[in-house]
Amino acid sequence: MDEKKTVLIVEDEKSIVDILQYNLKKEYNILTANDGEAGLDMALKENPDILLLDLMLPKLDGFEVCRILREKGNKAPVIILTAREGEDDKVKGLELGADDYITKPFSIREVMARVKANIRRTAMEQGAGDVLTAAGGLRIHLDSYQVFKHDKPLELTQREYDLLAFLAGHPGKVYSRGDLMEQVWNYGYVGEDVRTVDVTVRRLREKIEDDPANPELILTRRGVGYYFAGQ
Ligand code: CA
Repeated sequence: MDEKKTVLIVEDEKSIVDILQYNLKKEYNILTANDGEAGLDMALKENPDILLLDLMLPKLDGFEVCRILREKGNKAPVIILTAREGEDDKVKGLELGADDYITKPFSIREVMARVKANIRRTAMEQGAGDVLTAAGGLRIHLDSYQVFKHDKPLELTQREYDLLAFLAGHPGKVYSRGDLMEQVWNYGYVGEDVRTVDVTVRRLREKIEDDPANPELILTRRGVGYYFAGQ
């Protein structure tokens, strides 16, 4: 499973965003944000595989973005983009949890090499197992049956795990309760037991949703069934 990795570029200088995006998009999915607040939101919501993070940003500077990201347990590699004279900035950035830095003006070849190296290192650290990343900062380890939300482990029952892995594996596709009984519970017939699905969905929401009363991950299609939020 060689899925395209996602790079989040947080940079307010449009010409730099353009050149990075142009070169990186051949190999990666690209997300962009042009201020620190938007960058932080996007990093937490979309769970990119790597961040290219400018330091001097409107609203929230790159140091703060990095600090808050780490505080929230997000471990995606961060490469800071820093001005040539900013020796102190590099040190400060690395102390706040950045993994690497690139000095502006940079060569695009250097950026490509650094991005690749940091993604490879992270993949090796994660053990190269089959991992499903899903909306909401969820990471589902399909071989070890572990689920992480923003890098924090969740305690799920086997059935909750099965249901989550199934729905998240088909984002956006709506399944009726009967479908889910068959696919997840492997029941050959469907009777009143379909309520079991509702109960399991409710429990799962309590564990994975920020606000279980207003779910954003496991969604209800009224009168039809349930589906997992699209990426
Ligand atoms: Ca800037």
